[in-house]
Amino acid sequence: MKLVRTRQELAEIVTQWQREGEAIGLVPTMGSLHEGHLTLVRALDGKATRRIVTIFVNPIQFNNPDDFQLYPRGLDGDEALLAQTGLVDILYAPDETQIYPPGFSTRISVSGPDRMLCGADRPGHFDGVATIVNKLFMQTRADIAAFGEKDYQQLCVIRRMVTDLDLPITILPVPTVREADHLALSSRNKRLTPAQREQATHLPQALMNCLTALKAGKPASVSLEQCAQTLKEAGFTVHYLELRSEKSLAPVQKAKANTRLFVAASLGDIRLIDNMPVA
Ligand code: AMP
Repeated sequence: MKLVRTRQELAEIVTQWQREGEAIGLVPTMGSLHEGHLTLVRALDGKATRRIVTIFVNPIQFNNPDDFQLYPRGLDGDEALLAQTGLVDILYAPDETQIYPPGFSTRISVSGPDRMLCGADRPGHFDGVATIVNKLFMQTRADIAAFGEKDYQQLCVIRRMVTDLDLPITILPVPTVREADHLALSSRNKRLTPAQREQATHLPQALMNCLTALKAGKPASVSLEQCAQTLKEAGFTVHYLELRSEKSLAPVQKAKANTRLFVAASLGDIRLIDNMPVA
């Protein structure tokens, strides 16, 4: 695995790969890697002949400067973890100058899925995500890119962008990887205190209980209200807890196939998100 720090070096390598007919696979990340990210890399197996993982903590997708500053970083550890897999050809870890040159003033805005759920209280967040992902698609010239269902709304935004802008890339969705107690793996989990980590298990447990109630025919409004109450009692601030269509992300009143529960809730200043399919 080669560590590449500049756009120019990356371009030279991918130009050569394209000449040789390689299929380029991409896993964009913000680093602080865990098994969830490695699962995305493995998901490209048999679908790409070359694999690039990118690490870039993207300043323009953070609304809160503290959140950006506090985002966990550790390139050496990440590099070692990826090298161990033996599955990655390039780790591309550009600094800001390689991504946002002086005067940078373009944004990609995906209206619709960007205004609801996480978009409602994080204005501009998904514009920042769409913009960086598009740039990484261009810089890596990837044929296929893997994204986690953990960030389901992000996956919807990116699919919409790819369709709308005719981007020549396949998007590969990968189911959420969880801890033994079902907490979704996330770089932010590293910021939880031991006590908060114990509390955090209530998030997936409450979602699973809510799904059981929904499947048993309990009305969605009642099940969601009870679930939100359970989370509040467990010490969470609940930002949203909603049942939505998997395709359009439109709110739905009744649990059925192709609907999903979505939650964002904070413990202290650490915001956790999760989602689970009904069927
Ligand atoms: P991040 O570096 O956390 O922004 O995430 C980079 C990619 O990894 C995104 O496509 C995420 O959806 C995906 N990802 C993060 N956590 C998980 C997880 N627990 N399971 C599956 N994919 C994940």
